[in-house]
Amino acid sequence: MHQSDALPHSAAALRTALLGRTTQAFFAQSLMGPAPTHGAVIEDILCHGHHLEIVFDDGIVMHTQLRRKGSWNLYRVGEKWHKRRSKADVVIETGEWVAVCFDAASTETYRSFDQHRHPRAGRSGPDISRLDADLQECANRIMHYDNLDATISEALLDQRVMRGVGNVFRCEVLWACGVHPWARITDLPKSSILDIVLTAASQVRANLESPARVTAPHVQGGLAVYARNGHKCSRCADIISISRISAEKRPVYWCPGCQIAGEPFRELDNSDPIARLMDPHPAAVLFMSDFFRNREAPAGL
Ligand SMILES: [Zn+2]
Repeated sequence: MHQSDALPHSAAALRTALLGRTTQAFFAQSLMGPAPTHGAVIEDILCHGHHLEIVFDDGIVMHTQLRRKGSWNLYRVGEKWHKRRSKADVVIETGEWVAVCFDAASTETYRSFDQHRHPRAGRSGPDISRLDADLQECANRIMHYDNLDATISEALLDQRVMRGVGNVFRCEVLWACGVHPWARITDLPKSSILDIVLTAASQVRANLESPARVTAPHVQGGLAVYARNGHKCSRCADIISISRISAEKRPVYWCPGCQIAGEPFRELDNSDPIARLMDPHPAAVLFMSDFFRNREAPAGL
């Protein structure tokens, strides 16, 4: 068996060890494209044939193509590798594990967001991890976004708006501010946009030195919604959802129960104003129909 035929197994092992972990060190020999930022969370590991892609939450996707001799290997930090260090094409280190790719035919990275949305990405925005970052400028860049139909989720990861927000923070910030991920920028008040930027800056800055990200210390795992799909929301007890923006590889985790600011308009049946206000619980429906029947009865006499 060629080493690369074992790739799906390697990908599964990499997923188990690395998903949700922060990148503590990244090295790639002869890399084409940008490197993931220090601390970027590994969000997804995809395998197609002899290609393996690692998706980081700062929008960087690393693509490796493996031919006959190529392989991805997983080691504990400090464990001896089966080949010399100088043979490694890619090394990704998290707190506990080191993923090493040997003999890759090609390694390249690209920005998934820029590639889909902004092929001619403009000047990048302020780095919100810096204390001197102009946060009002970030808010202005959102309010004057070139695509007014864009959602706040898209704008938050756009490097031209601000730098430093990866997908984990995007999800956590929107939850903290109670904002619907598909809220259109034009549907949000200025105060809400400023609140989002300030919350993003405070979350990013509070996590600069920590190996695991914590934005909600009261929740087990330290995150309110990220990777918690299927669990109860700590604020409203609704069930946390996972959704994907079609052009992106990164999923959005959010709570349909309490992230309602800027919620996109849904078609309502305007014919019956009572029905719109009514609790959808079946018992309430029964109660309301009884109410009308009882009320109407005297009129029929
Ligand atoms: Zn909730």
